[in-house]
Amino acid sequence: MSKSAKQEINNKMEKLMSLLKRRGFIFQSSEIYGGLQASYDYGPLGVELKNNIKKAWWKKFVTNRIDMVGLDAAIIMHPKTWEASGHLQNFTDPLVDCKKCKRRFRADHLLEAKSLEPGYDKEKPLQITEIPCPECEGQLTDIRQFNLMFKTFMGSVEEDASVVYLRPETAGGIFVNFKNVVDTMRMRVPFGVGQIGKAFRNEITVENSIFRTREFEQMEIEYFVHPDEWQEKFEEWLVSMKEWCQFLGIREENLVTREIEGDELAFYSQRTVDFEYKFPFGQKELYGLAYRTNYDLTQHQNFSRQNLEYTDPDTKEKYIPHVIEPSLGVDRSFLATLLEAYTEVDGGRSTTTKSIKDMEVMLKIPYELAPVKISVLPLSKKEPFLQTAQEIIKRLSNDYNIQYDITGSIGKRYRRQDEIGTPFCITVDFDTDEDNKVTVRDRDTMKQERVGVEELEQYFASRLK
Ligand code: ATP
Repeated sequence: MSKSAKQEINNKMEKLMSLLKRRGFIFQSSEIYGGLQASYDYGPLGVELKNNIKKAWWKKFVTNRIDMVGLDAAIIMHPKTWEASGHLQNFTDPLVDCKKCKRRFRADHLLEAKSLEPGYDKEKPLQITEIPCPECEGQLTDIRQFNLMFKTFMGSVEEDASVVYLRPETAGGIFVNFKNVVDTMRMRVPFGVGQIGKAFRNEITVENSIFRTREFEQMEIEYFVHPDEWQEKFEEWLVSMKEWCQFLGIREENLVTREIEGDELAFYSQRTVDFEYKFPFGQKELYGLAYRTNYDLTQHQNFSRQNLEYTDPDTKEKYIPHVIEPSLGVDRSFLATLLEAYTEVDGGRSTTTKSIKDMEVMLKIPYELAPVKISVLPLSKKEPFLQTAQEIIKRLSNDYNIQYDITGSIGKRYRRQDEIGTPFCITVDFDTDEDNKVTVRDRDTMKQERVGVEELEQYFASRLK
């Protein structure tokens, strides 16, 4: 890729990040204290978009399906959970230090980057010590395995017996509640449990804004199946996850599904597919879909000494269910949605004014996910404009998140709304007092329609619900 093409791509990420900060989507955490590295806060518009993503996921995968139920398990779990799952022993990343500048890197990331450089000879795999530090060219240490779990103490005594961990994934909470869910909900295999929540990983390197952070959110499903039906169910989940990506607005050409093979495949998994997205900083994992056999429930059965077998009510067959795990990151969904939505319009959007226009930015966020659904823009700050605007807000604010903007020219106000992806703008104009109608402008088509104030609820119900 040429240097200028690379620059243009990085520019996209930079431009998006600066827009997200300027318009209240994402802030650096604890900014007034100088910020905490790679920790982010979701601002007033960010939290709306994030909540809309989570709500849509919950609806599509939990409440819309009779074979699914939800769960909200504790973040801090019994430490045995992580012994059973293998996280205590194996949830590590390969770490190297630079002997000169003391910076830390993930060895697998450095090796991967090197293998993408021109002239790399696949026949002669590189050793990490042959690679210089990417920051200062210093010598790197040998690889050490570094456990990614955050450790803390529970209760008032800081001793080994009170060590607990912040969960590194939400899945654990589902496995330990498998029996509770079967017993209380009378679920029949195949069925799934979905959960949304925070997960924590003490990542060695954090990168690319919210793409990789130490505190993040996951939307995970454990879908329990009979061992004979895993292939069929796996195919169904592949389709559902692709549909989800489409719903976020991800273009087909930006999504790659990659079969995980060889050493990369966990020993208990017979099939794993990574959903990779072409981020401006490279093609990277967005989501994962894994068939995990009955490894997890078997491990938890052995460590807890509780019987986690399932008895088929018809055939009376007893077995430990196998599991298919669609695992999705909320923050990566947020980022991919916005990268897809980010659009620059050269020369401005309006075709009605002749004045020379600058480039305009808009976020073509799917309407269902947009943080603000409707903005109300009275053309004058006098009455009866303001009163009518208030009446409209009263009619609609129970169903939609609304913004009210009375400052600046109407063109500037439209631009402000386009920039945050608001699907509809309502203008209270000079004819409103006469005909009790307002002008509704659609973000994507720019079409303007006169709609009666009393018809607004119905008008938006068919467009936004
Ligand atoms: P990666 O290879 O990028 O480290 P992973 O394979 O470790 O990811 P999983 O353990 O499969 O990730 O986690 C499931 C999902 O959780 C990922 O597909 C991603 O969307 C999200 N995720 C994982 N780690 C992070 C992180 N540090 N920051 C943000 N999201 C994350």
